Amino acid sequence: MNLRNRIYREFRDRYGVPSCFPYSVAEVAWSIVKKHKRWHRRPYAKRLMFKMDAANFSLNYSVLSLPFKKGERVLVPLRYGEYQRSFLMDKTLKRGSVTMTESSIIVAFSKEITATEPSGKVGYDLNEKSMVGSDGTKHELSEVARLHTLYGVRRSKFYERHPDDRRLVKKFASSRREKERVSQALHSVSTLIVEKARANKEAIILERLKGIRYAHQKGNGEGKSGRRRIALWPFRQLQSYIEYKARWAGVPVEYVSAAYTSKTCHVCGFINRKLKLTERGWLCPQCGAMLDRDINAAINIERRGKIRCLPITTVVTRAEARGR
Ligand SMILES: [Zn+2]
Repeated sequence: MNLRNRIYREFRDRYGVPSCFPYSVAEVAWSIVKKHKRWHRRPYAKRLMFKMDAANFSLNYSVLSLPFKKGERVLVPLRYGEYQRSFLMDKTLKRGSVTMTESSIIVAFSKEITATEPSGKVGYDLNEKSMVGSDGTKHELSEVARLHTLYGVRRSKFYERHPDDRRLVKKFASSRREKERVSQALHSVSTLIVEKARANKEAIILERLKGIRYAHQKGNGEGKSGRRRIALWPFRQLQSYIEYKARWAGVPVEYVSAAYTSKTCHVCGFINRKLKLTERGWLCPQCGAMLDRDINAAINIERRGKIRCLPITTVVTRAEARGR
């Protein structure tokens, strides 16, 4: 507010724009300062952008109307696909702010969700190749690892050939295309997971990913390339997709400690400290259970979830056979 008050007069006199402009400028500037970490450099806006609160713009299906000088308005026709259209047409959604960049317009929506207690839980174990649920469902993620390897090789070959050419980097070794393809794959997996949880009224239990990179250190049986891939792998990105989609769908998400989830036998609780990362299945020496590495971990993750679920009710139906 302090910043807004300081620039308010200048904005009015110099640009003649309504007071919502200095307000949102101050808000954006403050959020940049708040996020800024490396203070040996001054904070700056990385790209040209514009933001406006819901109270100040109107959106009529495909036309965005923004206030401008002295009662004039700027009308911006929007282009969008089916997915975006479903939000624009939904009258139950509340509009948040609108953000405009050089290439896109982002409209935020919100809605109220009535929280209901889930009737069950499903835990997910994340590894480099797949996301495995405690109910046995498996989502392939090897495509993501494959893309990283593909683009990684492409990039390093490029740098071998053109070590100093900064101009060519943008064209041939940019990671944008890779990021797009990876996030596309992550979007489809996260959508499937959330949709299933919503349909089955389940809560999603995920592991807290603090130490995931430390688990992949020298001497655990993996090669150098394995460690490189794991460091790049966007676990957290997938979790955040699941989290926001779940929130939108009213599906609860809980994070639990990931310690020993794959080394603990879910049947008897025995901890197999000798288990190597390369072992995909193991036989519990204490109870003799045959364990699949990923499903066992997912079951342990599910059990650590403390979220309250509805009691399991067993419906007993009795059919009587009547005879004469
Ligand atoms: Zn056991």
